[in-house]
Order: sequence, then structure tokens, then C-alpha cells
Amino acid sequence: MSESNGRHAEVAGGGFAGLTVATALAQRGWSVTLHEKGDELRAFGAGIVLWHNSLEVLKAIGAYEPLLPKSMVPPFYETRMHNVTQSKEDFWGLEWRTMTRQDLHETLVDAARNSGVDIRVASEVVSADPAGSVTLASGEVRKADLVIGADGVASKVRDSNHFELERTKSRDGITRLIVPRRKEDLGPGEWDNVIDFWNLEPRVLRVLYVPCNDDELYLALMAPIEDKEGSAVPINYDVWVESHPYLAPVLEEAAKIHGRYDGYQTTVLKQWTKGRIALIGDAGHAMCPALAQGAGTAMSNAYTVAVAATEAANADLPQALVDWEARERQITDECQERSAWFAETRSMAKGNQFTPQMLETARYDPTTREMISVG
Ligand SMILES: Cc1cc2nc3c(=O)[nH]c(=O)nc-3n(C[C@H](O)[C@H](O)[C@H](O)COP(=O)(O)OP(=O)(O)OC[C@H]3O[C@@H](n4cnc5c(N)ncnc54)[C@H](O)[C@@H]3O)c2cc1C
Repeated sequence: MSESNGRHAEVAGGGFAGLTVATALAQRGWSVTLHEKGDELRAFGAGIVLWHNSLEVLKAIGAYEPLLPKSMVPPFYETRMHNVTQSKEDFWGLEWRTMTRQDLHETLVDAARNSGVDIRVASEVVSADPAGSVTLASGEVRKADLVIGADGVASKVRDSNHFELERTKSRDGITRLIVPRRKEDLGPGEWDNVIDFWNLEPRVLRVLYVPCNDDELYLALMAPIEDKEGSAVPINYDVWVESHPYLAPVLEEAAKIHGRYDGYQTTVLKQWTKGRIALIGDAGHAMCPALAQGAGTAMSNAYTVAVAATEAANADLPQALVDWEARERQITDECQERSAWFAETRSMAKGNQFTPQMLETARYDPTTREMISVG
């Protein structure tokens, strides 16, 4: 544990953003209390793809090594249309990894606990004051030098402070599941690749196939919100297998699990900070999942705000947060725009879409503020 710097932070939300910022602050001498409204600490969703930007954050907070045996580096990101390969991308060697959300979350919880973060479950933040406090559902008011809103897309820290925002909901949604890999039943193929199986005709049904480790496969099944059969949970096996017959063994597994169909949205805020409050992750910049960067940008901004707040004198902290936003925001804004464009046009189906420009967010190293060149 680090030597105390005499300052205290209150963090709302025990997701990837909240756990990362809490750990990075505690490792810099802050006393940190993290509030999670759920009765237990757990990750929602199924699997996840992380890139260079967030992997560098994991290294910096000591959570990378523990994840290595639980995650993998697929050889290629392959895109298929009607099961015909359109492209195989390896991102010119830029680091990326796949894993289950549960494994990532547990690793972050361990890192936070080992760094001395006081984690409280069943503790809901109902509002926050820019002068430096949070109010809990219990009525308790807790003072802080820094308040972090990492409480997700329906953030109460944000909404209790009337941050101005624009919200755009997408026309598609995704059912996410973890199933056994059943590689041996899938027939010939490179089943260690991430494979993005698109069908746009006769109906839009996309399967993102993401191996997470030797045993677990993450399936993300995308269908338009208006397609009642495609968006049903548990999945309608007949509909999905008719569209993707070569995936029958794993779709069979998917049909045994209830799963959850979630829509997604882009929320763009006029500002991310107010006084001693900073918003990070989906609370500040929710995005469509096309570029798989919602958690990546959440963890990047979590890390950089912890550094910025620590470097500032306590009296200057509100201005330091404004400066942090000015420095870091463009890369997130552009990622939101690009992800929203992909969601709108569905043009990832063409393959070869991870150009150096589209990988800009992934290429950023928030721990050094350097941009890695590829291509
Ligand atoms: C289909 C889909 C696929 C995705 N795939 C990827 C991917 O591959 N890679 C990637 O980087 N990103 C991906 N994302 C995005 C990513 O999941 C999110 O951006 C990320 O999880 C946001 O983390 P967060 O910590 O900000 O918010 P959340 O994960 O929403 O966590 C917020 C936490 O705060 C708690 N909470 C809420 N309100 C309160 C309150 N008032 N008080 C206390 N606690 C509260 C919640 O219970 C929750 O635990 C995907 C998203 C979707 C929808």
C-alpha cells in the first residue's frame, strides 16, 4: 500500500471504470471509497476485447500479469459475409486480447482490494455535489476532495448535476453469452480467430464469435431491435441456425442460456467535469460497441484522471479536471463518432475496417500519452 497523500476520493460504480480509477488513486496515496449499488460485485455482459490502450493501463496498475493465463490473443480478426472470408486482420502486431468480463472484473477487484480501496456493495450514490461530496441512498453524506462518477450509462452523479448531453440510440441490439467452445464439433476452420459473421440478407443477423480462453467462447448475436425473433431471449435457435448453420453446435449451447439482449447508445456530454466531480466510462461517454472501445476508453480516462488529480494541488483540483478533459477528450470523442458511424452504416461487414485511423484509440498509450504507429 502507498504512503497517504492525505486526500480522499469517493467513487460511484464498481464497473471497469470505477475499479480502475479507484486502484490508480489508491496506488498514488489517496484514501478511496468505492460504492457499488448492486448487492455483489459482478460484471454484466459476457466477453470483452481489450486493446493496447487499456492493456497498458492494466500493466500500470498491476492487473495485467494475473489476466494473462485467463485471456488469449487470437491470431486474426476475420470478417465473413455469408460465411465467405472478406478479410483477416492482425492489426500490424498492435496488442489486443480477449477474455471473459468476469475474469477481467475479478482481476480488477483484486487489484483494488490489494491497493487498499474500501469497496462497499449495496451502497448507492444518489447525488453528488461539485463542492466535494456524495449522498448515498441511506442518506449518509460523505465528503471528498475528488468525486468520480463511474456509475454507468444511467449515472446519478451526472444526472443529479444536470450535465448537458445528447443521446442517440442505435437501431440494433446484441445478445451476449458465454458458451463452451466445442471447437472439435465446429468442422474445419481457424476457430481461434475472432470471427465476425455477417448476414445482411435476407435479414440482418450477425454473430461475433470471440474465443476467450481454452474453454470459453463469447458469442455476441446482433439483430435489429424491430426484429422480434432475432432479438428474443433465450435465442430463437431455428432463426439463428438457419442464418448461420456452420455455427450449429455453439448456437445449440447459446439456446440453453437465458442471456440478455441489450441496445446501445452514444451519449455525448457538453463537459465531463463540474467542480470536484469527474465523469468517466459510460457515465461520461457511452458508445456503440463497433470498435470495442467502451471499456477501453473508460479505463484510459480512469487512469489519466487519477494521474491528473494527484499531480494537482488540492485547491487547484477543479481546474486540473478541466485541463484533463481538454487533454484527453478528443480521442474519446472521435472514437464515439467512428463507432456510431459503424453502427449506423453496418460497414464493418465489408472487412478490412480496422485501418490505422480507426485504431487510433487503441494505439494510444494513456500511461505515456504516446501514439503507437502501425500500418
Ligand atoms: C454489446 C456490447 C459489447 C461491448 N463490447 C466491448 C468490448 O469488446 N470492448 C470494450 O472495451 N467495450 C465494450 N463494450 C462497452 C463496455 O461494456 C462499457 O463501455 C463498459 O463496461 C463501461 O464500464 P463502466 O464502468 O463505465 O460502466 P458499467 O459497466 O455500467 O458499470 C457501472 C457500475 O456502477 C454501478 N452503479 C450504477 N449506478 C450506481 C449508483 N448510483 N451508485 C453506485 N453504483 C452504481 C453498476 O451496478 C455497475 O456495476 C461493449 C458494450 C456493449 C453494449
